[in-house]
Amino acid sequence: MRMYDLIAKKRDGGKLSQEEIAEMITGYVEGDIPDYQMSAMLMAIYFKGMDEKEILYLTQAMAESGDMVDLSSIEGIKVDKHSTGGVGDKTTLIVAPIVAALGVKVAKMSGRGLGHTGGTVDKLESIPGYRTDLNEEEFFGVVRKTGISVIGQSGNLTPADKKLYALRDVTATVESIPLIASSIMSKKLAAGSDCILLDVKTGSGAFMKSVEDSIRLAEEMVKLGENAGRRTLALITDMDTPLGNNIGNSLEVIEAVDTLKGQGPKDLTHEALHLAAGMLMLAGMGNEEECLKMARGAIDSGLALNKLKEMVAAQGGDVSVIEDTDNFRKAAYSYEVKADRDGYITAMDTEKCGIASVMLGAGRETLSSPINMAAGIVIQAKTGDKVEAGQTIASLYCDDEALFEKAAAKYREAVTIGDEYVKRNPLLYAKVSRDGVKREI
Ligand code: URA
Repeated sequence: MRMYDLIAKKRDGGKLSQEEIAEMITGYVEGDIPDYQMSAMLMAIYFKGMDEKEILYLTQAMAESGDMVDLSSIEGIKVDKHSTGGVGDKTTLIVAPIVAALGVKVAKMSGRGLGHTGGTVDKLESIPGYRTDLNEEEFFGVVRKTGISVIGQSGNLTPADKKLYALRDVTATVESIPLIASSIMSKKLAAGSDCILLDVKTGSGAFMKSVEDSIRLAEEMVKLGENAGRRTLALITDMDTPLGNNIGNSLEVIEAVDTLKGQGPKDLTHEALHLAAGMLMLAGMGNEEECLKMARGAIDSGLALNKLKEMVAAQGGDVSVIEDTDNFRKAAYSYEVKADRDGYITAMDTEKCGIASVMLGAGRETLSSPINMAAGIVIQAKTGDKVEAGQTIASLYCDDEALFEKAAAKYREAVTIGDEYVKRNPLLYAKVSRDGVKREI
């Protein structure tokens, strides 16, 4: 196999065989194929796409490029969840404890934030002492003891995805359905859970900007999961406005805890309940209505919040910040972004909201940039809300006052205020399962 020939084949719209894809992935991980040739291949895939078989072969080759976690020694059904990435998306911190409180095991490996999107591992690390780097024995031990563990990805899980994702990030080849589907599903297959709930985000803060593209991506991922013997369900959810009100690591943990106390924002609570219900349905706990009721019950009874505390304690975290979120360290400075006119918020460029938060130090500009756990944004008015000139629409937090000017300018750029009321988008557009697409609107 010559990489040159494979690039030319894909460039001209040809189909790659299973053997060619497997050799290419092995060669890339082992360093025999250089980044410049793989970049050309990624761009060819971006433009020419891949058929169902090619996506399957690519996903399998990536999943098998490193360790495959075997969770079978842990009793019960294990359900995983994955979001395609968003701003203010702290749902894992809410839904994982809900389903675990109801007896469904969650042994989850999560990612860090990159670009404008946040990552669950960074959010959990804002809890003092919380360890996301458990080894396999410790990880399994926490799941056996508490029914739930959320850690960072182990060192040798899908090394092909680590290398390819970093390359895609700098070659403008992230937004490709075959590449996103294989990236996400290779990690999920290697992570070993029996069932997979996918949260496919759509809108200005997501990689997929349209509902139709999101549905196509979801269909590919559901097929990949089901063909590998994992029950898989995808929810297509809105990311045209940030989810909930808080963006930034400890700020998002605080909002997740509020939600588990039944005091969270409506949009976040609604979406979390649907995601939790999806995980419960996959685990065979009942129909949608029953599972929604169970999920709500786990919040009302306090059992889900207790489950979060159990996990935090088992992973070395300081439970006092969950018991009283005022115990989180606060940022040294705050700054209020005010509306410059009367009117209605008609649109929010959610990617720009995420970038403003990164500019305050809540996310990283590069993989190795440090993160300020207390930095971020608390949104006070969202799309559809009426505002008056001078009213605070968001509060920004960070430890370096010099960062406010540019971050506030970016946030202002993200928010459009107009004369006419605009209705906010629905939160849930569709569900995609092995039985097909069920549109919710
Ligand atoms: N999340 C992933 O893990 N991979 C992608 O390609 C996009 C989002």
